[in-house]
Amino acid sequence: MASRTDFGPPNYKDMLPPVIVKNYGQWKYHERVKPGVLKHVGESGDELYTVRVGSGRLVSTDWIRDVCDIAEKFCDGHLRFTSRHNLEFLVSDKEQVESLIAHLKEQGFAIGGTGHSISNPVHTQGWIHCHTAATDASGIVKAVMDDLFEYFTDWKLPAYCRISLACCLNMCGAVHCSDIAILGIHRKPPAINHDIVRAKCEIPNVIAACPTGAIRPDPKEKSLIVNEEKCMYCGNCYTMCPGMPLADPIGDGVSIWVGGKISSARTPPKFSRLVIPFLPNNPPRWPEVTDAVRNIVETWAKHARKHERMGEWIERIGWERFFDLSGIPFTVQLIDDFTLATETFRSTPTFKWSEVNHER
Ligand code: SF4
Ligand code: SF4
Repeated sequence: MASRTDFGPPNYKDMLPPVIVKNYGQWKYHERVKPGVLKHVGESGDELYTVRVGSGRLVSTDWIRDVCDIAEKFCDGHLRFTSRHNLEFLVSDKEQVESLIAHLKEQGFAIGGTGHSISNPVHTQGWIHCHTAATDASGIVKAVMDDLFEYFTDWKLPAYCRISLACCLNMCGAVHCSDIAILGIHRKPPAINHDIVRAKCEIPNVIAACPTGAIRPDPKEKSLIVNEEKCMYCGNCYTMCPGMPLADPIGDGVSIWVGGKISSARTPPKFSRLVIPFLPNNPPRWPEVTDAVRNIVETWAKHARKHERMGEWIERIGWERFFDLSGIPFTVQLIDDFTLATETFRSTPTFKWSEVNHER
């Protein structure tokens, strides 16, 4: 049809490796051969090896051509990107697995991210692309994973560890259910430029966009006023109106949340909880953030039982003990007093900060 312009994505089944087509829905088991290598075995006896390498989220077409060439050479061109930006080569010829790994290592690719390791962190756009970013995305993730590289390539952790980053609390990176979430936060309300508001913004729409009802008309200026007490610095109004920027070099920074997971293995999925309310933006290597993340990972790795995810470990020992072991100070900002938070308030009378808790 000549008039059709949106064709959508191609059907994924058209691109499956032949071994997957043949064994579709009839896989018998899979196992983790070693860090970065998975093996799936079908009822037919066919085997499929997956070799996983980390990749940047922002890559060039030259880099994609290079990995396609590698896939052509070792696995008939079959590769895929995972939802956490890993790159997976799908190898149906066992003889090719070790030569592919040797070639990838020679080319400087990092093999790992499977099993009890830190997989590639998922992250959002950051300063490179989004208008409401309170921090960078790729920059912090690169610094954090350079520091924690050994936990990507080896199985040194008790369980999976998923790190995610979103550069503002709109969280298009879905960090709300990660073992460790790095979340950019603004700490100042929008600075209103009345000229731009008058010239470019639809005032009723901007008022309606505020989730806390903090914006009202300013008839004198023919513009808007923000009630700073009600503002939660979400940036929605800036999305609607370029006259309300809230980025600020001192006010903006990073918060750290822990204990979330999506998996329903053993325990139900959990939301991440705030444990560090603010760390400064300190590019290009964000040392405060990398130190904080390493401390949390290693405290968990030292004290958790085998297979225990971060949130499961914290629930077993109690949040008081988590702050005690990690050395992270408990501050007033960690208390959830948002108007709509009544359902999540901890109201049990059994809560007590005492030595008794510490002995569990
Ligand atoms: Fe933009 Fe916020 Fe998404 Fe970051 S998390 S890309 S700032 S909407
Ligand atoms: Fe409302 Fe968010 Fe704008 Fe604050 S930043 S005024 S909460 S829309």
